[in-house]
Amino acid sequence: MTTTDPLIRVHTNPLSLARSRERIGLITEAARRAGSYVASATHRPVYPAAEAVAALDAFRRPLQDAPIPAREVLAELDAFGSPATVVSTHGRYFGFVNGGTDPAAHAASILAGAWDQNVGGTIMSPAAAVLDEVARGWVIDALGLPSTAAGAFNAGATVANLTGIIAARDALYARQGRDVGRDGLAGAPALRIIVGEEVHASALKALRLAGFGEAQIERVPTDRTGAIIAEEFPTDTDASTLVLLQAGNVNTGASDPFHEIIPGVRERGGWVHVDGAFGLWAAASPRLREQVRGVELADSWATDAHKWLNVPYDSGFVAVRDPRDLERAMAGTAAYLSAADDAPMHRGIQMSQRARAVETWAMLASHGRDGLAELIEGSCAHAQRFASLLTAGGAELLAPVALNQVLVAFGDERETAAVIAALQEDGTTWAGSSVWKGRSAMRISVSDAATTRDDVEAAAAAMLRCWRAVRR
Ligand SMILES: *Cc1c(COP(=O)(O)O)cnc(C)c1O
Repeated sequence: MTTTDPLIRVHTNPLSLARSRERIGLITEAARRAGSYVASATHRPVYPAAEAVAALDAFRRPLQDAPIPAREVLAELDAFGSPATVVSTHGRYFGFVNGGTDPAAHAASILAGAWDQNVGGTIMSPAAAVLDEVARGWVIDALGLPSTAAGAFNAGATVANLTGIIAARDALYARQGRDVGRDGLAGAPALRIIVGEEVHASALKALRLAGFGEAQIERVPTDRTGAIIAEEFPTDTDASTLVLLQAGNVNTGASDPFHEIIPGVRERGGWVHVDGAFGLWAAASPRLREQVRGVELADSWATDAHKWLNVPYDSGFVAVRDPRDLERAMAGTAAYLSAADDAPMHRGIQMSQRARAVETWAMLASHGRDGLAELIEGSCAHAQRFASLLTAGGAELLAPVALNQVLVAFGDERETAAVIAALQEDGTTWAGSSVWKGRSAMRISVSDAATTRDDVEAAAAAMLRCWRAVRR
């Protein structure tokens, strides 16, 4: 031991010195195991083998009485957990719209985990509060939303949709002179709710949580891409109308014609909320921005950083044009929560919350505007490549590729289902199933920055190989 060891200078007590050494050793060990996981994942089947899944039974034991050293707990997690993960980060996983792991965001999450900051209130963490403020400004800027809009990070696009819808609901009632905070919703005149036929299940769930039932919802017809047909949109909306539009249909990537719908709805006093969980990021690319033309005209927007931005999960984002509307719905009132504070707990549903913005900050700082546009455009180029390789192999494209989503059928319904099952078994790559306009489809979502042209070629070849095997 030398007195230049900083730990010794801090810890005069031998027991606390030993504890500190152990803690640092554990963090280093976790990082070493994480590194090995990342290195070995590229050689593993994308979906875990049945034996690895069966071995998870090791976790299914009663909670024992005696403590187990943290090092052993970590080793158990790695031994049984790591082999049974879905390798969603190595470029050949195309399921759902899950995204991969951005290196800077992942590294930031490790450091922020050590920080253990609660960003709920500004006084709780100056570092987290500043990074949250900067990151929300960057997201609003990157998406081309009004610079005066209020933003807030939250658990995901479902929570972001809910936050936006509650802000809308309370604002529409406030314009009628009704204070929802004081009078509640009982006895309030109904709002008119309009969505597209292809509204995402998440937005419907958020509507329900905000007090709007299925029978209250009007659905406007969509075209073959899943976008609302502007001519079919009602022109008699009023000041008690809440409209939900979509940037990026989860099956096709298509967006609603914002520039044709939003101005009329707003002129007549209504509110437009946009669910743009992944599709809103088209706005971050000068080449793809046209796809979401007019989206910035809305009143509120929901998106995710944990999908296309490849930030760790639990990274949703809501923006509201007029900050007073977000504040009216979400600001806490307890005396110790400092009313003058515009901290995250006053911008969303949660009070205590992890400093999730640190990861989005790191991703955006590391990529810059150009890197972000490259990520978005690269995924879309890969999706186009998938479409051309698969159609050249005889598969049928069920909708034009608008962004990063590809919908294909392999022969009839039964054959398509069999190809998806065979592919999921094969392990080269992974894609899920969907139903589009009554037809079974394989849905390929390119949303991992790690995906290369080689990955796309290997995956498309595996899909066609599975199809040939199914036909035999
Ligand atoms: C994924 C998705 C959602 C839900 O987002 P979560 O982050 O999973 O809550 C909502 N809308 C659309 C269009 C989506 O793709």
